[in-house]
Amino acid sequence: MPVQLDQIFAQDYIAARERFRKAAVAADAKLYTLPIDARGPNGEELSIDIARIGKKRAKRVLLHSSGIHGVEGFAGSAVQVALLKDLPWTRKNTSLVLVHCLNPYGMAWLRRANENNVDLNRNFIHETDQRNGAHAVYHRMHDFLNPFGRSKRYSFFVLRLIIKILIHGFQNLKQAGGQGQFAYPHGLFFGGFEMEQGPRLYLKWLQKNLRWARRICVVDVHTGVGEYGEDWLILERNFGGPLHQTLEREYAGRLDVPGQKGALIYDMLGGMETAFPHLFPRKEIDYITQEFGTVSGTRLLKALRDENREHHHQEAAPDLGHWTKKQIRDAFNPDTSEWRKKVLRGGRQAFDLALKHLCR
Ligand SMILES: [Zn+2]
Repeated sequence: MPVQLDQIFAQDYIAARERFRKAAVAADAKLYTLPIDARGPNGEELSIDIARIGKKRAKRVLLHSSGIHGVEGFAGSAVQVALLKDLPWTRKNTSLVLVHCLNPYGMAWLRRANENNVDLNRNFIHETDQRNGAHAVYHRMHDFLNPFGRSKRYSFFVLRLIIKILIHGFQNLKQAGGQGQFAYPHGLFFGGFEMEQGPRLYLKWLQKNLRWARRICVVDVHTGVGEYGEDWLILERNFGGPLHQTLEREYAGRLDVPGQKGALIYDMLGGMETAFPHLFPRKEIDYITQEFGTVSGTRLLKALRDENREHHHQEAAPDLGHWTKKQIRDAFNPDTSEWRKKVLRGGRQAFDLALKHLCR
């Protein structure tokens, strides 16, 4: 039966969570719910939902997560719903853990950051490390990235960005924004002054529920970086080994290793992958970030900047019907069946590959 894309891709966070929960129950998964304090646009409760298929004490765990960047979560959520409707065969002693939307506030309110304007994939700074400062170029770019006042639809953004690139250099700008900052709480890419509630709950859950695992493979789904609908796998550093060779073979030209020459992704601080060695120092861990390309970097940055500016300007709750919300939603979730089909195909392919690697 052909996949009904509208049955898989939801229109909003609440519908996405409902589909995930229903599909999890239908697949006989054990469902866990981690509620957070923040609320949705209509006062709804928000939560991180986790479905586990297979035994609790399994030695091998495939951990698949979505939505750490809120508005990016529609793709990962759809991949997970499709997976639950068509589960792969798994070997004994293997469990599949699907984590639905690590930033429910961001997905519900169409933001990349969470309820405290924190970029959660920059929030996992270990307690012994510093959370302060920003890249020198970020300080100089602050007024441009985070202007005060209402957002304007036409603001000569592209022209002004080109001038900034000429002054600071493209690589510097990419690094300055992408690495995260700990100086401007209302600014883009803010990593937070402390560990946020969602990540705290999630790490606690992992510690309790994955303690029997010996080998864990993480796949964390994002959107934004890359060509339209094409996926990139980012093999986070320190977790190389046999997976690196497999990915080089299967994802030639679409594999990125941060820190290596020519890397697509900037080095960043406080990424979720940095939490795992502290959490599970004696386990074998591989960690893949999967990115699905959407629109150009310029359009993404404009969408992020406009939405963030409007969000912080308003005194009342931000309005989901505002053009900045539509713009950010479209920038991270192209509403075409071509893009959606590619996401489902690529999402499944990476999942199967991770599972094969885990059970090698
Ligand atoms: Zn992301």
